[in-house]
Amino acid sequence: MATQKHSPLTYNVSQLLREEPGSRREYAFTESALHLHEGEELRNIAGAARFTRTELGVYVDATASGIVSTTCMRCLQPALVAIDVTFAEQYRATVDVTTGSSIAADHEEGDDDDAFLIDERHFLDMGSALREYAILEMPMRPLCKPECLGLCAGCGVDLNQESCRCSEAAVDDRFAALQALLDRKPPQ
Ligand SMILES: [Zn+2]
Ligand SMILES: [Zn+2]
Repeated sequence: MATQKHSPLTYNVSQLLREEPGSRREYAFTESALHLHEGEELRNIAGAARFTRTELGVYVDATASGIVSTTCMRCLQPALVAIDVTFAEQYRATVDVTTGSSIAADHEEGDDDDAFLIDERHFLDMGSALREYAILEMPMRPLCKPECLGLCAGCGVDLNQESCRCSEAAVDDRFAALQALLDRKPPQ
């Protein structure tokens, strides 16, 4: 198994794995930041999770809220989007906690490639599921504010910061043409 970098929301579940199916742990958690993907981070995370021992591993029920720092789709300035995330996912054990032998995935039960896994040292990285569900909660077009005016398609100025001169320039051109007509002396 490839060694992955764990998120800050990682729990050692070796004790829970030694208990009977149905055994539970409850956690409240806060975390300053979780990297989502390039250019986006979930910040000010607060939530609660319940871990339940299952035959296959640990079932995680969690709710969390946070603020995603991202980019406004209209003006390309930083944008903050508050989101709430709820998920329930099975994390499959990969190593038997009592024998230390690895547990092969049961491929007959379907494609398991996307499964969340408890690593060989019995660490469960809840951040991996939170990351996926947080991305699903993101609006398609995040905005810095609902009334963001965006960038002018003509000159590219940020219309929240300054008014552009594209329309003025167009008017100036028309006046210039009119002036040229007036300047032309009528034939005598
Ligand atoms: Zn904007
Ligand atoms: Zn413009």
